[in-house]
Amino acid sequence: MAARILDGKSLAAQVRAGVKAEVARLSQRGIRPGLAVILAGDDAASRVYVRNKARACEETGVRSTVFEYPSTVKQSELLERVRALNADPAVHGILVQLPLPGQIDSEKILEAVSPAKDVDGFHPANLGALLAGRPRVVPCTPAGIMRLLSEAAVPLAGRSAVVLGRSNIVGKPLALLLLQRDATVTICHSKSKNIEMEAKQADILIAAVGRANLVTAAMVKPGACVIDVGVNRLSDAGANRLVGDVDFDAVKNVAGWITPVPGGVGPMTIAMLLENCVKAASL
Ligand code: NAP
Repeated sequence: MAARILDGKSLAAQVRAGVKAEVARLSQRGIRPGLAVILAGDDAASRVYVRNKARACEETGVRSTVFEYPSTVKQSELLERVRALNADPAVHGILVQLPLPGQIDSEKILEAVSPAKDVDGFHPANLGALLAGRPRVVPCTPAGIMRLLSEAAVPLAGRSAVVLGRSNIVGKPLALLLLQRDATVTICHSKSKNIEMEAKQADILIAAVGRANLVTAAMVKPGACVIDVGVNRLSDAGANRLVGDVDFDAVKNVAGWITPVPGGVGPMTIAMLLENCVKAASL
């Protein structure tokens, strides 16, 4: 039987509608949520992400301002901007679009963001709260995945969850969130042995690596829930195509649930960013 498709696009639209309603409520208290985005360098994908985020802000009534810098920007300039935004009462959320140019110490910039305005949830204080089991701001992509799972009522307690990828922005926080929901969690990375075997025993398999077709049908347990976080641009026959880490066409015949790319995790990430921003504004 073909897997149930977890439609991130339509769930994200519902979340955005909730955000819009909350923005209207806040306006009665004289508050307009404001998001500031720092974009440095000329990474094409980053520009697309920032444009999509700004569009989503506009649609929901969140004020967004993008601060653009050339790839030669100095660390001190970015730090100065972050400090000014921390002090600006009209700014409730600060997002530093990654990756930053090579000469910049990204950790230092992220650490400079006030934890209260850290709508990406990347500040060590917010990551620490998540680790301690008292999440405050949860990173957007893992939060969006958890929302997709709970909306589809995918059972997690006591189930085996395997996360492929251990980045600070996706793999690690997601593993913690799954653990909090009582899943038995395994994290795999580039040095892991027998990834195929680990994946095959997963009831919930999350691919967050950035490698097209990494997850084949042979790696998926029948009936498993497969979440594809990967975003890979393939160009075949001169055309650009966006694919995830999962061989969707084959895996959908084995899995019980599956997210498409595009239209799965991606739209949820942006919806969670808006939700985090509105939450920050209402505190
Ligand atoms: P990242 O920082 O590059 O991390 C990739 C992770 O994959 C690393 O932990 C790496 O291991 C691991 N890895 C590499 N090769 C592997 C292999 N063969 N088997 C198992 N693990 C392997 O990437 P990221 O920022 O987490 O993003 C991952 C993917 O998700 C990318 O395609 C990115 O574009 C996408 N993404 C999508 C969204 C969205 O909203 N849809 C949001 C964020 C990211 P090591 O730690 O050992 O190097």
